Amino acid sequence: MKLVALLMNIAPYGVFCLMAKLFTTIGLDAIYSLAEYFLVLAGTLILHATLVYTGILKAFTGLSPLTFLKKMEDAVMFAFSTASSNATIPVTMETATHKMGVSNRIASFTVPLGATVNMDGTAIMQGVATVFIAQAFNIDLTLADYMSVILTATLASVGTAGVPGVGLVMLAMVLNQVGLPLEGIALIMGVDRLLDMIRTAVNITGDCMVTCVVAKSEGAMDVERFNDIHAGETEENVDFHKLSHDY
Ligand code: ASP
Repeated sequence: MKLVALLMNIAPYGVFCLMAKLFTTIGLDAIYSLAEYFLVLAGTLILHATLVYTGILKAFTGLSPLTFLKKMEDAVMFAFSTASSNATIPVTMETATHKMGVSNRIASFTVPLGATVNMDGTAIMQGVATVFIAQAFNIDLTLADYMSVILTATLASVGTAGVPGVGLVMLAMVLNQVGLPLEGIALIMGVDRLLDMIRTAVNITGDCMVTCVVAKSEGAMDVERFNDIHAGETEENVDFHKLSHDY
């Protein structure tokens, strides 16, 4: 984490130089393509969280996707602002146990495991980024290349640490696999922080969804608590007035 923090601090200067060099060779059109890359990726991430996750939740547990998304609000905001699945673990745990009624026995296993290996958002970014970089450099990918991108992006996302920016570092592995130039990373680095915030929110939403599916199948879920829209909201509120009265 220290190394990544160090890299992140000097990255803006390096990115500026790399981008200046790239734009002089590729041309200013690359800026429009970059905006398209941003929109495609952000849209895919949002669709994945709102359609795929909720679809799996509904199919395997029968629970309400809307209640699930509503209860994810705090954890999503925390993940969005920290861009770190690992830093969000306490909030994800709190959401799963107090708000969704998952037993601590299940959540304390699935949430930390998910925050370490389950990163759909990161895998999606690596796939889209690889295709974008190939197009920017006018390199045609074959069907076999696409298959290998899917496999390596999935493996690279498993190996990605749940801290800011590591997904981009692991992208080098995917680019290497299909013989794309690593300089391509510089192209997308400028817009990656915001995308990192979005994909981290997607990553932890996936962890919570899987936690619910596992808990439901193990009979370790309090469905009444899940359906109570205000569950877990007042848990931390200590009534000091009543306490001082009692003692
Ligand atoms: N920031 C992401 C996470 O913590 C990892 C990444 O894609 O860089 O989940």
